[in-house]
Amino acid sequence: MKWGLIGASAIAGNTMIDAFRRNGHEVLSVQSSGQSRADEFAAKHMIPHATTDVEDLLGQDVDAVYISSTNEKHFPQAMAAIRAGKHVLCEKPVAMNLGDAVTMVKAAEDAGLVFGTNHHLRNGANHRAIRDLIRKGAIGEVLSARVFHAVYLPQSLQGWRIDNAGAGGGVILDIVVHDADTIRFHLGEDPVQVVAQSTSGRLGNGVEDSVMSVWSMPSGVQVQTHESFTHAHAGNGIEFHGTEGSIIARGVMQKPEGEIVLRRGDEVTPVAFEPEDLYERSARLFGEAVAGKGKPAADGRDGIASLAVALAVAWAAETGQRTAVDYGDI
Ligand code: NDP
Repeated sequence: MKWGLIGASAIAGNTMIDAFRRNGHEVLSVQSSGQSRADEFAAKHMIPHATTDVEDLLGQDVDAVYISSTNEKHFPQAMAAIRAGKHVLCEKPVAMNLGDAVTMVKAAEDAGLVFGTNHHLRNGANHRAIRDLIRKGAIGEVLSARVFHAVYLPQSLQGWRIDNAGAGGGVILDIVVHDADTIRFHLGEDPVQVVAQSTSGRLGNGVEDSVMSVWSMPSGVQVQTHESFTHAHAGNGIEFHGTEGSIIARGVMQKPEGEIVLRRGDEVTPVAFEPEDLYERSARLFGEAVAGKGKPAADGRDGIASLAVALAVAWAAETGQRTAVDYGDI
């Protein structure tokens, strides 16, 4: 696999380049809006070609692009890559609105190209262990789920995320999409309706920095979520409560680690799993999908669905209305 990187971003530099290389993939080119930034990034990460021009990158001998620019650029960049016949691994949220998300995913499908969404959490052995427990009925019929994913946004990330709505800033497009993907992964169903309230002003300037929401699922399961940029001490986790028991997982929403227990009455059983690098697995499954074996961990339709839930949460928070999730025409 030969990759072109669209976006000289922190996530590309800190995690994805290594994840590609650990899978034996090559990174041939990087595109940034500034040539000196592109050159600096390329030199630092030993990438042979650097450009400001997406078409120039697409003209290189690359099989796939990894798009990790700010969120408003994902749609035009993905469409350019698809037109050039390149497979696309796109960061979340895949787009700023549902119409663009559906258009890009359909375009990739029509062109026979692999489209992946880099929802990393479902790659975790921790989350796979939770899903296995749910699937084999360890907690009986699931009644409810709770996601607590309120973090303190590190100083290094306090740029466009906290003050630039046009670039897709705000905690809803940043974290709710991940939680939506994770809930869909565990429950195998899509939220139907949401209610939500958000706040801003602590870190967020013109964008929300905290949100709480409740989602209803087709099966009747109730889901409660809390996402924030302003909580330094809250920790994170996910819980599933069923008729026969509960799964309580702590520290699993940011890293492949954490602790999982299965609780039935007073009986508490630790759940073992072997931590595995989330991004390395994401890159591996994407590469295998390009080679015709299987699917990316999260595909384009997963990216559409997580965005659809986030947009419903945003609308519900803005209007105070109970909001049906619109998954678009796909
Ligand atoms: P960054 O802020 O690091 O990068 C985004 C863009 O900002 C870059 O493409 C770059 O533009 C520009 N930029 C970055 N640093 C500088 C700088 N010092 N000076 C000028 N411009 C700069 O974003 P992230 O890496 O945090 O996020 C990128 C994407 O990845 C987002 O869509 C985000 O949602 C997603 N993400 C996903 C994660 C996951 O786990 N799946 C985790 C983190 C982020 P240019 O390329 O034009 O130079």
